[in-house]
Amino acid sequence: MKIETALIHHGNFEDGSGAVMPPIVLSTTFERAEDGLTYPSGYIYSRYATPNRTALEDKLTLLENGVETITFSSGLTAAMAVFQSLGSGSHVIFPDDVYFGARSILEKIYLHWGLSFSLVDMSDIDKIKEAVQPNTKLIWIESPSNPLLKLTDIQLVVEFAKQKNILTVCDNTWATPFITKPLDLGVDISLHSTTKYLGGHSDVLGGSLTFKKQSSVSEYIRMYQKTGGAVPSPFDCWLLCRSLATFAVRMPVHSNNAMKLAQFLESHPAIEAVMYPGLPTNRFHEIAKKQMKNGFGGMLSILIKGGQEETLRVASKLQLFKHATSLGGVESLIEHRKSIEGASSLSPENLLRISAGIEAIEDLIADFEQALGS
Ligand code: PLP
Repeated sequence: MKIETALIHHGNFEDGSGAVMPPIVLSTTFERAEDGLTYPSGYIYSRYATPNRTALEDKLTLLENGVETITFSSGLTAAMAVFQSLGSGSHVIFPDDVYFGARSILEKIYLHWGLSFSLVDMSDIDKIKEAVQPNTKLIWIESPSNPLLKLTDIQLVVEFAKQKNILTVCDNTWATPFITKPLDLGVDISLHSTTKYLGGHSDVLGGSLTFKKQSSVSEYIRMYQKTGGAVPSPFDCWLLCRSLATFAVRMPVHSNNAMKLAQFLESHPAIEAVMYPGLPTNRFHEIAKKQMKNGFGGMLSILIKGGQEETLRVASKLQLFKHATSLGGVESLIEHRKSIEGASSLSPENLLRISAGIEAIEDLIADFEQALGS
C-alpha cells in the first residue's frame, strides 16, 4: 500500500457496530476472561494501552518505517522520556540553535538530575567530534532547526555516532516523515511533537518516539510511558488518527506555499534575508536535496530590514497570518521568536518565523504585499 492509502486504513479497529470510522474507547479498564487471569482483548488499564493509542502508534510506526512507536501527552514529554532513559551522569550533544523548549528541559530539569550537555554547531562534523566526552550517551539532531532552519547532514552524524556507540535522536517535527525519514538514514529514534504537522489543525497536543529497532532503550521508554502515564487521551489519539488520514495531502501544499513565499520574499526590498532550504541560494540546499524528498517543508524564517520595532509592526499588519506561536496547522502563523524565547534567546531581533498554511498562495502573498508595503 502507498502511504496515502495506508494512513487512511492501517491500524484501524472495529467495535462490532458496523461503524466505518473507528470509535473512541473512553473506558479506563478492560474486562478479564472467565479464567479470572487473562485479558482477551489484550487491554488491561488505559495507562498501559488503549485501542485508540494502539491505532495511533501503529500508524506512526508505518509512517516512519520503524518497528515501534511510543506516544506521549506532548512533544517535550517524549523528549523527557529519552533523557530519562540515559541515566544520571550522562552527557548529551545538542544543536546550538535547538528548539528552545528542548534546551529548557535540560537546563531546568535534567541539570539537577546530573545530566550535562554541550551546545554544538551541528552543521560542522568536526565540532561534534570535539564535543564528545567519555560519558556522551546521546547526539540530538534537529533538522531543519528551529528557528534558523540550519540543516544537519543526518547520515554523516549517524555514521560517527555508530562508531562511538552513541544513541541518536532526530526531532523530525519540522521536516515530517513525508519529507525526511530519519530511521532510513540510520537514526535510532525519530521524535515528533505531534502537536504540529501530524495533528495539522492546532487543536491537539502530543508527542511520539518511533524506534528503528527494539532495544533496552525502547523497553525502558515503554516502561516509563506505562508506569508514569504521561499519555495522550483516547480523544487526542483519535483526533491524531483523523489528521493522519489527510497528512499526505496537506504536506505538499504546505511545502509549495512555503517555497513560493520564500521566492516572493527573497526578492522583496523590505526583506534582509530568507532562510528556507528549498531555495537554491540557501547554504544548506545541497544537504536538503540529499535528505529532503517531496518538498522542503512548510517552515521558513525571514529577517526584516530594520530593528525589532519594524519587525513587530510587519507581524501585526499581517491579516491572514496570525501572530501566534506554534506551527504545522492548516492556518498560516507568524512569530517573533525572540519575544517568546526570553532572555537566553539567540534569535535575531528582526527574525520572524513563518508556518505556511494551506490557504491559497495568492492570498498569502497579497497579505505580505500589504503588510510590507508601507
Ligand atoms: N520540537 C520542536 C521542533 C518544536 O517546534 C516543538 C514545539 O514547538 C516541540 C518539539 C515541543 O512540542 P510540544 O509543544 O508538543 O511539547
